Amino acid sequence: MAGIPAEGRDPKRRVLKDVFGFDDFRPGQADVMETLLSGRHVLAVMPTGAGKSLCYQVPALVLGGLTIVVSPLVALMQDQVAALRLAGVAADTINSSLERDANVAAWRRVASGQTRLLYLAPERLMTERMLDALARLDIRLIAVDEAHCISQWGPAFRREYEDLARLRDIFPEVPIIALTATADETTRTDISARLFADRVDTLVLGFDRPNIKLAIEPKQDSKRQLLRFVERHSGRSGIVYCLSRRKTEEMAAFLEQNGVTALAYHAGMSKDAREANQNAFMTLSGVVMVATIAFGMGIDKPDVAYVFHTDLPASLEAYYQEIGRAGRDGRSAEAHMLYGLGDIRTRRLFIDDEDASPEHKRRSHGRLDTLIGYCETAQCRRQVLLGYFGEEAQPCGNCDNCLNQAPRADGSTEARIILAAVAQTGERFGASHIVDILLGHETEKVLARSHQRLATFGAGAAHKRPAWLSLIRQLVAGGFLMPDPDGYGGLAISESGRALGRGETAFEYRVETRHRSLRNKARS
Ligand code: ADP
Ligand code: ZN
Repeated sequence: MAGIPAEGRDPKRRVLKDVFGFDDFRPGQADVMETLLSGRHVLAVMPTGAGKSLCYQVPALVLGGLTIVVSPLVALMQDQVAALRLAGVAADTINSSLERDANVAAWRRVASGQTRLLYLAPERLMTERMLDALARLDIRLIAVDEAHCISQWGPAFRREYEDLARLRDIFPEVPIIALTATADETTRTDISARLFADRVDTLVLGFDRPNIKLAIEPKQDSKRQLLRFVERHSGRSGIVYCLSRRKTEEMAAFLEQNGVTALAYHAGMSKDAREANQNAFMTLSGVVMVATIAFGMGIDKPDVAYVFHTDLPASLEAYYQEIGRAGRDGRSAEAHMLYGLGDIRTRRLFIDDEDASPEHKRRSHGRLDTLIGYCETAQCRRQVLLGYFGEEAQPCGNCDNCLNQAPRADGSTEARIILAAVAQTGERFGASHIVDILLGHETEKVLARSHQRLATFGAGAAHKRPAWLSLIRQLVAGGFLMPDPDGYGGLAISESGRALGRGETAFEYRVETRHRSLRNKARS
């Protein structure tokens, strides 16, 4: 009928406007909600910041009755409940961090039908007692947040999530929505199989975050490299990810010494210290948070100007999630990673040391290879990144490869020299030693093994050390050299490497001109 505003006819639009104050749905939201409202299950794969929460909060209010929201972290639940209450929505959580009285009071509100959304951790929901009690209530919708936690192949598997597979049988009449920002194909199919026995509508939303500039820099002196980067963004908030707890503290202290306001965050700190630092980061401007990956889930600070990785992340999807914390306000932001061969070795060791099945390890190594491919690519990084999530894209003009088209050159001769040195030393030594040989350095290790007598000793004077290291990294990335499986850093030659060594194939490489300026700066 003419004259009636759109929200008048459409209950979900009315809730969107009246309760949340928004005029329009974000892409994908309306589709997801319609599917749920028609009673079907949904797997919603949407990037961080896309507005996943509303996808079940609006239907929860349209449907009435009780909606159960499963969420892995107490802090996340508390935030969501607080935000909903501010909007006047009857939301509750029952969790281990609350006093018994508070939990009892919350349950009374739930049982008497006042509560619309109840947030629970999976292990609390899946107790027989809770399930029995809930079975007597009017449950209309179940939302499983961070649903990738159910996937064994995912980067954040949680045993407690496995049990959620029973939900569809326990509540056969209730539509279930699973939400995640992690979307590689394997994880996606795994969620679909486990939670829904494949009877689910899947909606995948665009993953591009065009305002985040993507760049990767060879790791040389990470402290100096970090400082130079941070100083370019002085006065803005940023997140710096480090692999180890110790390193976060070292890096934060180093930044502080150089006049940058920096705080550390890792799981080894006391809860109070962590909270204090997190609060400072959230409320003050211009704070640099130097953290392990313990920091970040559920952090919704719109004006983070950059995410800097001092070490290689675990996988491309971990990287994507981590950099997604930058530039949520839509302003230009940067994702900057330092990348060195040592990191690959460390990551391989991590995987091998995991208490996991051989199949799981194989997949983890495969994920790591994908990430290395991303680091080494000469193509537009965004194309590679989005391609991994199944999205096609044009060269973006906002990544280092698009912005400074690294010149490419034929490196067949250099490759053969490297391969010869690796072969002559028995395929047991790491990149650094190989480069010492090529440059003719009489180091202790070289002399101890008489490597100064090799034909390749001093054969590499044409290039400087960083250029040789880059060549070796690109040979590893191209599969010509393999880091040895024992994880001691030795390089071995693959089949394709042998073919290259025999001159049967050519090798094109990316000339990293940045090396020269870095070297000069480090010296002066
Ligand atoms: P996600 O869980 O996907 O990371 P959130 O649910 O936290 O994202 O939403 C991110 C931000 O977007 C929140 O501040 C939310 O209020 C806002 N938002 C969500 N949907 C809309 C909308 N339709 N219009 C305007 N803002 C929205
Ligand atoms: Zn690009």
